[in-house]
Amino acid sequence: MQNAALAAVGLADWRYQLLPVPPELFGEAVPALAHAGFRGANVTLPHKQVALALADDPTPRARAIGAANTLIFSDDGAIRADNTDAPALVSALPFPPAGRTALVLGAGGSARAAVWALLDAGATDVRVWNRTPERAQTLCSELGGTPVERIDAADLLVNCTSIGLRAGDLPFKALPLSADDLDHYHCVVDLVYRESETPLAQAARKREIPVVDGLALLLGQGALSFELFTGRTAPIDAMRAALKLP
Ligand code: NAP
Repeated sequence: MQNAALAAVGLADWRYQLLPVPPELFGEAVPALAHAGFRGANVTLPHKQVALALADDPTPRARAIGAANTLIFSDDGAIRADNTDAPALVSALPFPPAGRTALVLGAGGSARAAVWALLDAGATDVRVWNRTPERAQTLCSELGGTPVERIDAADLLVNCTSIGLRAGDLPFKALPLSADDLDHYHCVVDLVYRESETPLAQAARKREIPVVDGLALLLGQGALSFELFTGRTAPIDAMRAALKLP
């Protein structure tokens, strides 16, 4: 997706590449990248919190969320950090979250971004369920929202657990939710992405509930990161085509 975008805007000698970095080397690897000609990096599990801590200049939202998915290296070697997962979620929704209610499933890094984004965009009531309830309590005490042990109807259902990632995952067993319960939501967001549609997204689509799937969010956060790295407008159509999205 990012290489398709670089080609589409004519940055022919730029490359986006995968660098698997073990946690114990992350603190050394990032400054080395900055000095080796890299313009930035997207950061994923399990590095997002350390990425924020390494930054000289994190955005207020990355600081509030407590995690960065985008690092930008300035010419003087300074490291800026942002979290593009949060604005990508709000932009992908079929309606603005202001005045709406939401149930967020999960309390990991992506749930922190989702809860912060929804509250920042004016959602009135953001409830957080997690398999390990203490983590939902901690998240809400730091960011806002209400930890819940039972699920309830809301305008938005946002799955920020990793359930659905593996082919054998059974969302309606692992999550406190049946397929019939999906009728209590006006939109289902599943952050999980994989080649085929996740079972949660599939079930919601079958019931004709608007769905925002993980690939749409991947596109949104990637487009924002691209703009931070390059200073160019992201060529969304080329990125969408690379992801084989309609
Ligand atoms: P994370 O920090 O590791 O959190 C994982 C969450 O999943 C935790 O709340 C964990 O609950 C829960 N979980 C794991 N296994 C479970 C199970 N068997 N039953 C119930 N809950 C379970 O991960 P993350 O960074 O938040 O990412 C979560 C998912 O979102 C991943 O699949 C990731 O790829 C995806 N994601 C997608 C995008 C995108 O652009 N589309 C962006 C960010 C993340 P416990 O606290 O109880 O362990």
